[in-house]
Amino acid sequence: MKEPLSVYIHIPFCVRKCRYCDFFSAPCGDTQRKAYTAALVREIREYPLLPEDPAYAESGKYDIVSVYIGGGTPSVLKTEETESILAAVFDRFGITDPGQCEITMEINPGTVTPEDLHALRQAGINRLSVGVQSFNDSELALLGRIHTAADACAALDAAKRAGFENISLDLIGALPGQTMPEYMYSVKRAVSLKPQHISVYSLIIEPGTVFAGMLEENRLPELPDEDTERQMAYDCQRYLEENGYRRYEISNYSLPGYMSRHNTGYWTLRQYRGFGAGASSLVGETRFTAAADTDGYIRAVNAGEKIPCTTEHLTQKDRMEEFMFLGLRMRDGVSRTDFEMLFGCSVDEVYGNVLRRQEENGLIICCGGRIMLTDHGTDVSNRVMAEFLLD
Ligand code: SF4
Repeated sequence: MKEPLSVYIHIPFCVRKCRYCDFFSAPCGDTQRKAYTAALVREIREYPLLPEDPAYAESGKYDIVSVYIGGGTPSVLKTEETESILAAVFDRFGITDPGQCEITMEINPGTVTPEDLHALRQAGINRLSVGVQSFNDSELALLGRIHTAADACAALDAAKRAGFENISLDLIGALPGQTMPEYMYSVKRAVSLKPQHISVYSLIIEPGTVFAGMLEENRLPELPDEDTERQMAYDCQRYLEENGYRRYEISNYSLPGYMSRHNTGYWTLRQYRGFGAGASSLVGETRFTAAADTDGYIRAVNAGEKIPCTTEHLTQKDRMEEFMFLGLRMRDGVSRTDFEMLFGCSVDEVYGNVLRRQEENGLIICCGGRIMLTDHGTDVSNRVMAEFLLD
């Protein structure tokens, strides 16, 4: 039987660094971008799935569920570069009908023309994840985004005209100085554009970002307090649900049938192989992450050497913990049967006490063979998940 596998491609380039961003990405020139694309194509075509065991599963056949080109800003690539990357993926994994597979590309509204979008659709991309973040131009400027609200609307419109029928839009809430009406304005504008999927995150000030420096120097407008942030999440959820979007994961909403297949794989421990500098993979019971070093990556691949990476062998205990706290992010929670099939014992044998305590505290519900967070549990999800760590 074929094993399901997802493919992730990392493009570590952006036009300019956003002030809140701690992802592995940086501006690049033509030469570096071309060299990186060539290395990526070579890695996809020639490198083993598991660096430490080159023979691993090479003869096995995978059922590719999804391909995700993320970053960074993948839409800084030239169309022919994206085409060469996709061709390598299709050849390597024997994808003959890309339409059967969810193939997503992240795009930044400031980097695509209607012609680019048309070409991407023709190349086989069938889902877009559009980093809009806000529909208020002053908020976009504060975030350091390169686009305006009008650019975002134009990109969505052009994407639909190019034939994209599966579009996700990202928003960030709890921005510095943001009021509730300003936040809801963005949520409502997002819904008015009728994307099939909306992701809504709350801003986290990450160390080392421009925002972290501004906060330290008291130059950042005041952040919404915890109560306001929670109210934003409630109002957003209510509005999206009234408009047909179901919250299927803590930060993700979709119209029926449009849950992200790729991200659902991460929450259900599906195997994935990441290609490119900084990309992570989970193959068999090994998780490995390529070093976040673009030039080092290009050098290693050009020399046909092993790509520097950190490797972690997951134990049964690690996998059980991840199964629970990633699975509980989803509205439908985790399945008792899946747990038993994966680990050969019942979830109660391992987590019986935790489940009883959390159910009594109103944080989870167990019903129909599934374990799910309650609304209150979702509000304090980090605290709930921490309980699933095994000693
Ligand atoms: S576009 Fe995305 S990846 Fe690039 S700097 Fe901005 S937030 Fe980071």
